[in-house]
Amino acid sequence: MTECKRKAKKITTSDTCKRCNNAKEDALHVLRDCPLIKPLWESMLKTEHWHRFFSMNIDEWISFNLSKAANKMLNGSWNSRTLRGRISSMLGLASFSLAPGC
Ligand SMILES: [Zn+2]
Repeated sequence: MTECKRKAKKITTSDTCKRCNNAKEDALHVLRDCPLIKPLWESMLKTEHWHRFFSMNIDEWISFNLSKAANKMLNGSWNSRTLRGRISSMLGLASFSLAPGC
């Protein structure tokens, strides 16, 4: 659960991201915008697509990522081994951020 949702449910008084302490932690911050996850996306994407990728709202971003257009944005250096490693790192980070007591 994001800090934003925890605050809305009155579980906490702050919606600030506990990882970066720099922004409201909503779903898009956790998945894309947190400074701890953003470098992963930047390493996967061609530089010329960063602005579009990082300026979408969450509905646009999810739809885009499910579309074939997203594949055209990927950096050509990706292969299945590096992708598995990066995804494992990302899932580890996501598990940490969503763990109870965070
Ligand atoms: Zn953050």
